[in-house]
Amino acid sequence: MKKDKYIAKKSLGQNFITDENFLKKLSSYIVTDKNTLVIEIGPGKGALTKELIKKKIVRLIVIEKDFSLIDILETSFKKAKNIKIINQDALKIDYNKFLNKNSIIVGNLPFNISSGLLMKWVLLSKWPPPYKKMYLMFQKEVGERILASHGSRQYGRLSIITQSRCKVKKLFIAKSKIFSPQPKVDGIVLEFTPHNKNLDMDINSLEKIVKKAFSQRRKKIKTTLSPYINFLDILSIDTNLRPENLSVLEYCKLAKLMR
Ligand code: SAM
Repeated sequence: MKKDKYIAKKSLGQNFITDENFLKKLSSYIVTDKNTLVIEIGPGKGALTKELIKKKIVRLIVIEKDFSLIDILETSFKKAKNIKIINQDALKIDYNKFLNKNSIIVGNLPFNISSGLLMKWVLLSKWPPPYKKMYLMFQKEVGERILASHGSRQYGRLSIITQSRCKVKKLFIAKSKIFSPQPKVDGIVLEFTPHNKNLDMDINSLEKIVKKAFSQRRKKIKTTLSPYINFLDILSIDTNLRPENLSVLEYCKLAKLMR
C-alpha cells in the first residue's frame, strides 16, 4: 500500500502529524545518547519515527497495531539497521521484555486508549520502572487531568496515580490543524520522569483508596472513606473535605497506612 493512498482508521485513533516543524520540535525535546533505547508507540506512517531514527540511539523499537501500516513502515525504514518494527497491540505487551534502564517511551498516542496506556506504564508493580522518561501526546483535556493539582475540577484518579510515581511537565500544545485527519480538539505533549518518593507505598492500596474517594465526587470523604476514618484521624485530615481537596501526598500517606 502507498503511504499517500492510506485511509486513516478512526477506530484506531489515527490522526497523523503532517507538520514537519512540529515533528522536529518534539524530537528536539527528547534527550538521548548512544545507549538510549527508544520505544515508539503507534508510529503510524512513520512521521515521528523518521525524526527519532536520526537521533543518537542504540535502537528504536516501534509498536504498531495496524497490520496495513507495517508494510509502509518496513518500506520506509528498510535501510535503517537499528529499528525493529513490531505488529502488536501496545495495551497487551509485556514491557519488561523490551525496556531497560536506558529506555525512553515516546508516542503520539491514539487518543481513545491514551489513559489506559499511561496507567499500564505508571502502575508497573516494579518501581523504579525500567524506563527513564516518557514523552507522550494526549488530547489536551486528558493532559490537563494528568497535570491537575488538588482543588481543581480536573483533579482525580489520573492526576493522583500518575503524580504519585512521576514528575509530570507540560511541554507544549499541538494545535488540531497539524494532524490529518484533523481531530476536533488540540493535543498536548507531556514529559514524565519517574521519581522514587513513594517506594514504601503499595500502588494497589493507592488505587483502591482513590477509587473509593472519587466514586461519589460530590460526597464528603467522611462518607466515601468511612472504612478509613481512623487513618484520616491519624493524619489529621478534615473529614468534611471532598475528594478533590486532598493532595497527592495525603492520598499516598493514606495508602501507606493501609499496608
Ligand atoms: N505517530 C504517528 C503520527 O504522529 O503521525 C501516528 C499517531 S496516531 C495518533 C496513533 C497510532 O497508533 C496509529 O498509527 C494507530 O494505528 C496506532 N494504534 C492504535 N491503537 C494501537 C494499539 N493498541 N497498539 C499500538 N498501536 C496502536
